[in-house]
Amino acid sequence: MNTNFKRISKLIPNALLVCLLLSLGNCNGDSEALAEFAFNGSTMGTTYHIIITGEPIDSKARAALATSVDSALLDFNRILSTYEDQSEISRFNRNKSTYPIHVSDKLREVVKTGQYFCESSGGAFDITVAPIVNFFGFGFEPGENRFPTVEEIDSWLQLTGCDKLEVGDSVLTKSDPRITIDLSAIAKGDGADYIAEYLMARGHQNIFVEIGGEIMTYGFNKANKPWKVGIDRPTFGGAPGADLQHVIQISNEAIASSGDYRNYREVEGKRISHTIDPRNGSPIAHNLASVSVIANTCLIADGLSTSVMVLGPEEGLKWLENIADAEGLLITRETDGSFKEYMTTGFKEYIID
Ligand code: FAD
Repeated sequence: MNTNFKRISKLIPNALLVCLLLSLGNCNGDSEALAEFAFNGSTMGTTYHIIITGEPIDSKARAALATSVDSALLDFNRILSTYEDQSEISRFNRNKSTYPIHVSDKLREVVKTGQYFCESSGGAFDITVAPIVNFFGFGFEPGENRFPTVEEIDSWLQLTGCDKLEVGDSVLTKSDPRITIDLSAIAKGDGADYIAEYLMARGHQNIFVEIGGEIMTYGFNKANKPWKVGIDRPTFGGAPGADLQHVIQISNEAIASSGDYRNYREVEGKRISHTIDPRNGSPIAHNLASVSVIANTCLIADGLSTSVMVLGPEEGLKWLENIADAEGLLITRETDGSFKEYMTTGFKEYIID
């Protein structure tokens, strides 16, 4: 690999845009304190952290629960991971047919949500962005260490857009055999929902699931209070949790973040973000450093945060303000290196610090 190619994200493999404050609210000697079981693992090229509070869980049941979560995550990856050669999505990407392709309910649902974000954001969010993401080295292919030519960008624009993929009852149809999809912007959020629901279905009511910084919560923490989450200040190279912009609290809601400060590369001496503007085929180039969105599901929060990240600070804030049941915090990086924050009207209700 060429020496002027630097994949910065690999320096911080388990990047968390939203860090966990596992200690907050958990050790105050509150008489109503609940029993807690916390466990961690790896999935989707990152880490997960799960906390369940409520009734005590014995050691045998704890081991079984952790094993079953890993197994559920493996099933999830077998459908949605573009990093697995034999996953359903990878097979779909290799399928060159323009006839309807039968897909699982899970793949269809996530694609359908992606198409919803594409249409509502005017194409800022776009799951057909895969060839551009891969060229810049942020996807499931190694990527190049140069900027693309105008011809290359033009050729990608022929293969991207909400209209390139049709969602049917149990099928997806490509308008061009070369269409490929990348669900990395929303599938981690969906994974957090999936595991939270999996645990709910097993009788747990107080659940915190975090996968690579995307968080879904139900019920309360060990102190019998809403879950507390720290939002990192978007400093390049900053360790997760080292410098917080805010601490918020949520219950029965999700929070997801997108940002330019953890997953980026340097190409020909320029720093480029992993968020791509599919409308011009290039990495985003505005001063929005991070976006955190609270919504009813992590799938929605995840899609909204990436969409706003593409739309930029002014248009993104205006757009998000009009989305029902979602609140967001946007942090811009100013020319003097300082940060400025903007939020939707309801976001401040969640801030406790
Ligand atoms: P987000 O801001 O949530 O999303 C940004 C990502 O979305 C980009 O990296 C790009 O892929 C895509 N994107 C960029 N622009 C747009 C746009 N305009 N519209 C829509 N999408 C866009 N990584 C590994 O290294 N190894 C693995 O084995 C691995 N497995 C994974 C399995 C699954 C099921 C998933 C969902 C992801 C996996 N990943 C893996 C990827 C990784 O964990 C992250 O999902 C990815 O790096 C981006 O997440 P983020 O939160 O940093 O960025």
